[in-house]
Amino acid sequence: MGLSEGKRIYLSSPTMHGEEQQFVQEAFDTNWVAPLGPNVNALEQEMAAYTGCGYAAALSAGTAAIHLALKLAGVEQGDAVLVSDLTFSATCNPIAYEKAVPILIDSEPDTWNMSPVALRKALEEYPHAKAVICVHLYGTPAKLDEILEICKEYQVTLIEDAAESLSSTYKGKHTGTFGRIGIYSFNGNKIITTSGGGMLVSQEQDLVQKATFLATQARDPARHYQHSQIGYNYRMSNVTAGIGRGQLLHLEEHKKKKKELYQQYTAAFADLPDISMNPMNPDGDANNWLSCMTIRKGCLVTPNQIMDALDAKNIESRPIWKPMHLQPVFAECRFFKHTDEDISVGEDIFNRGLCLPSDIKNTSQDMDQIIQIVRGFFV
Ligand SMILES: *Cc1c(COP(=O)(O)O)cnc(C)c1O
Repeated sequence: MGLSEGKRIYLSSPTMHGEEQQFVQEAFDTNWVAPLGPNVNALEQEMAAYTGCGYAAALSAGTAAIHLALKLAGVEQGDAVLVSDLTFSATCNPIAYEKAVPILIDSEPDTWNMSPVALRKALEEYPHAKAVICVHLYGTPAKLDEILEICKEYQVTLIEDAAESLSSTYKGKHTGTFGRIGIYSFNGNKIITTSGGGMLVSQEQDLVQKATFLATQARDPARHYQHSQIGYNYRMSNVTAGIGRGQLLHLEEHKKKKKELYQQYTAAFADLPDISMNPMNPDGDANNWLSCMTIRKGCLVTPNQIMDALDAKNIESRPIWKPMHLQPVFAECRFFKHTDEDISVGEDIFNRGLCLPSDIKNTSQDMDQIIQIVRGFFV
């Protein structure tokens, strides 16, 4: 039997180092297994120190963080919220929780993120929109200068969905720290994980305090259990925060390895005009959470063929996120395109793209195998 037979190559699976268990053990030793406790506080402080975000609230999921961000932005029933169209549904779902109205904004081709052109068009029609949620897709920073300027002009709150881009920077500053509110995710396949969890961050301490308050059932400061608002059970537990503290020690190392995978793919496909890698923002430094490729327009190879061929060798890959305007559940939403062409930028990327295995535990043999399978379609 060959060395790698029976082994699965993953898209992006958790990578643990040992320190995670020490922090978890501490939680057990001190019986801080209940929600909250020293690991939660420490993880918040360590994340704030690492990103420069100001203040941080550790939550049960990135989705919970987006939900609370909308509440902090004052989003109510019927309010327009402008949101990246090419993303995971978790970006968009919390808008529906609040019975607000998602307005979907196409991508631009340079970074695959929210198109400032489409954003401006949408705000001209919805000048009283309550919030903009901008995603940094696959870890690549969006065109933040342009987006911030437009948000300022229309006095609309920018929420950064940095779930995929923790450790990515734009002009030297961490993604997630540009908007009034930012969110990160520690879901299992993200660049670091707590097995499940998220964080809401802001430079405004009162906003983060409000988030923590809402996340702990909105309990008023009284001995008897008194509530003047509807709250949520969205806090992170002290056990999972321990995993996060151990992971955070290795975040830069994870980023470096992700970048190496992206560079290996880029070099391996450089001679093939039919393949392009997902674009980088020249003003940023991406974490390369997932390496993605697109197939040239007009080429007969399809993403499904490549995904099937990888799957046959027990190698995990994944389609590009299916744009929100193509989702049955969001089909009624207004959608603003980057150009007047029939097909939107996001749909075109979806049709021609796929996410390549980006697991930092991939060996060079694993990478050679993946590259050989993909190249086989084009040479
Ligand atoms: C993973 C992800 C989320 C949701 O984070 P969870 O922690 O899984 O709730 C939100 N937005 C984007 C873009 C994501 O990739």
